[in-house]
Amino acid sequence: MPRSRRCRLAALLSTWLATAPAVVAPGEPPADLILTKTRVWTADAKTPWAEAVAVRGDRIVYVGDARGALAWRGPKTEVHELSSRLVLPGFNDAHVHLMSGALSLERVDLIEDASLPAVQARIKAFAAANPGSPWVLGRGWFYGSFPGDLPTKEQLDAAVSDRPAYMECYDGHSGWANSKALALAGITRDTKDPENGVIVRDPVTGEATGALKESATALVESKIPVPDAEARYALLLRALPRLNSHGITSVQDTASSDLASDPAEDAPLFARAKKEGRLTVRLAVAVLMKQGDVDRPIAQELRLRAEHDDPFLRYHTIKGYVDGVIEAKTAAVLEPYADGGTGLPNWQPEALQAAVVAADKAGLQVYLHAIGDRGVRMALDAHAAAAKTNGHRDRRGRVEHIETISPADYPRFAALGVVASMQPLHANPDQNLMDVWAKNAGPDRASRGFGWGDLERAGARLAFGSDWPVVTPDVRRGLYCAVTRKTREGRPAGGWLPGQAVSLESALRHYTIDAAYASFEEDVKGSLSPGKLADIVVLADDLFLLVPETILTTRVLLTVVGGRVVYRAD
Ligand SMILES: [Zn+2]
Repeated sequence: MPRSRRCRLAALLSTWLATAPAVVAPGEPPADLILTKTRVWTADAKTPWAEAVAVRGDRIVYVGDARGALAWRGPKTEVHELSSRLVLPGFNDAHVHLMSGALSLERVDLIEDASLPAVQARIKAFAAANPGSPWVLGRGWFYGSFPGDLPTKEQLDAAVSDRPAYMECYDGHSGWANSKALALAGITRDTKDPENGVIVRDPVTGEATGALKESATALVESKIPVPDAEARYALLLRALPRLNSHGITSVQDTASSDLASDPAEDAPLFARAKKEGRLTVRLAVAVLMKQGDVDRPIAQELRLRAEHDDPFLRYHTIKGYVDGVIEAKTAAVLEPYADGGTGLPNWQPEALQAAVVAADKAGLQVYLHAIGDRGVRMALDAHAAAAKTNGHRDRRGRVEHIETISPADYPRFAALGVVASMQPLHANPDQNLMDVWAKNAGPDRASRGFGWGDLERAGARLAFGSDWPVVTPDVRRGLYCAVTRKTREGRPAGGWLPGQAVSLESALRHYTIDAAYASFEEDVKGSLSPGKLADIVVLADDLFLLVPETILTTRVLLTVVGGRVVYRAD
């Protein structure tokens, strides 16, 4: 008996095992899964819309109208009639720090707290709830929460005084230590700043204040006990379903500057998850190179690539941090900041170019973190040097973040074939962005902040991601910011620099097919097309027909990776 229309609308997902005789074309086994009678946005420019998708094994076998999907139905086919839902290619987060994110799951999360008392209260409660842990660890504080935009050890002592405590800034580029942690790290007024790092000091006494910038964070982080392999594996297995719950089916791991992630130690964990059938997110993993340490990571990535190269686990990329962040004035800028500094680049331009040329010559793709306009130019120059030295090839160099840019550099992305890898939620126009970021950037640079629209108009290919754990991996938050340039609360009314917003279709493309392009995988995933991997997400609402605010409230109902349902809403 067909269900009543009302019943079908009321059900989140109506499913039945078809009892009708199989009507599959002779010689073709039936589909395992059919999603039908719904709106399907395929990300395939030739046929962007369909009514049904059929999956057999790990591949899509049919995309088209609902009637045609019937031909793929067999006695054991699982069929979902989805009515007014929205079916999309699975989301591909083009920039995450997977193990840092996994480790953050057992640390106090400060990301939603804006005021210092709220931050301190949360840390205090977390410490009380974890009396046995030798360190109190957390992450996610914002510069704007503190008078003077940087925290102090006294403020953290007020929350935790019996043990060392260390809180990483939301952007991962600064740290906040209490007195016990500073003592354990041996940081005194005589400790010299490490290269490319700053121990923030009291201007009168010269004592460390408790705030650490860039490489100085390692002085404390290196003292934090690292969870053993079993503990890390357990955290990885917590992280993967969490990503699936956001509709994420692929991530591109962009290597960390902190000590949370070591590719040599993480690779066996990823391989083990794959072997045990628990790797429910496809991974493309980069290793980190630094000025003076280039040949070793190149060799390491090539070795990992030889060991793992399949649609679940890939190694083909190397990452470098060109500069820091605007909030700590460590991003490299062309015109000085108000205090006269021009940032803290991690490379000499010539060394960066030589490293990118070497990695490119070895056949690796290169990601370059660059946030200041001078950093972005250094990154583009390095990609240009690779093309000039090593000749024409499809290399798809990437620049990560691009928070500010000189107008002269917009067209270089298309000209060089460099992918602009950007994270929409970083432009969330909240207090941190509008007060600290915009103030440090200054009005001229800020007027070109997070220029997705201008980059698109200049022909650049954009790939979107979250930078988790810097911000939540919840794709809805990024999508909403991408299309509105507003906070969740709807501020500012017309959106911040609304000309840099992109259309919903563009934003979805950047999270799907363009993200797949950014890892050289657009032939196997990123759109719903016959023959491609069956990576699919079902959202509760058709975002194309509703107001943008629906993006924040819609629910992920179903996530499918390689034909396997890995997440289903209650
Ligand atoms: Zn990052």
